[in-house]
Amino acid sequence: MKTKKKDIRALTKEQLRDFFVKQGDKAFRGNQVYEWLWNKSTHSFDDMTNISLETRELLQNNFVINHIKVDQLQRSSDGTIKNAVRLHDDLIVESVLIPAKNRTTACVSSQVGCSLDCRFCATARLKRMRNLNPDEIYDQVVAIDRESRLYHDRPLTNIVFMGMGEPLMNYNNVRKAIDKITSPEGLGMSPKRIVVSTSGVPKMIKKMADDEVKFKLAVSLHSAIDEIRTSIMPFNATFPLSDLREALEYWYAKTKNRITYEYVVWDGINDTKKDVEALIEFCKFAPSKVNLIEYNPIDDGEFQQASNKAIEMYVSMLESNNITVTVRRSRGKDIDAACGQLANKS
Ligand code: SAH
Repeated sequence: MKTKKKDIRALTKEQLRDFFVKQGDKAFRGNQVYEWLWNKSTHSFDDMTNISLETRELLQNNFVINHIKVDQLQRSSDGTIKNAVRLHDDLIVESVLIPAKNRTTACVSSQVGCSLDCRFCATARLKRMRNLNPDEIYDQVVAIDRESRLYHDRPLTNIVFMGMGEPLMNYNNVRKAIDKITSPEGLGMSPKRIVVSTSGVPKMIKKMADDEVKFKLAVSLHSAIDEIRTSIMPFNATFPLSDLREALEYWYAKTKNRITYEYVVWDGINDTKKDVEALIEFCKFAPSKVNLIEYNPIDDGEFQQASNKAIEMYVSMLESNNITVTVRRSRGKDIDAACGQLANKS
């Protein structure tokens, strides 16, 4: 049954305090409820045991807690876990837990589907249905943290916004979610352990710089040549590399934070010396790191991972230009949990 009651987690702490004052209760009651909602991630008013029965009923009559529900949990042979997450309106997003030697990373979604059209990405084939709310983003992190403790005996250490969606097209909610995740009233995680990955929305990169955000930025570049980038990421026609670069220069000037570029090398698309030279040129204005990501095939073989020789050429040319480079192997491929594979298959 659909309900008209308001989602209580859409309220700020102040609004919650005000609610109780208007009801003739103490403002402090708002703090207690807020702690249940965020720090303890309670799903039900009944669990709020230090709140009187009467007050719990009052909450029940006025609000709902729109919690996410992990509908399906898949475990990969390499320890990766993929959650299919059901939202209150029955839409589904996916998030992934990636355990490594010294860290456990949550890869979370920011939108249902995606508004961009990268031709190599499975999520791009889903229509963008809606933005996720801050609490829907936060809940994905809480769910992964719990699974990490349960299945791997350790808490979550890192978060990457590399699941479904373009986080900078839902910037306000992503920002609010990160505020909660990093706040002591939420999960108390360090913003330095959070990476927001964008395909490059210049205006929003500048906004992030102006907001002096403390989390890290990764840019999905894939080519530093406009013609090629537009052919694989068509929105590059609207936000060409010169605009992206200008925004990144602005970001660096303000934050002094190194920029990470994500980059897949494809056979016959961006695997020549000219491509590497363009990348080196693009990276020059700020300390940069290039993550060469393994390609995860999503379909008919239109895109294919380049040869090892091409990858080695990238590595040696970047290194000799003092650009840090890492070659990243994919995780969770057997359960379609790797980069670009999140498409609600099941
Ligand atoms: N929209 C954001 C975040 C989601 S994609 C962004 O574009 O950055 C996370 C990363 O996976 C991006 O770097 C993206 O380019 C990459 N990716 C997409 N499809 C892929 C695929 N099939 N194989 C490997 N990486 C892929």
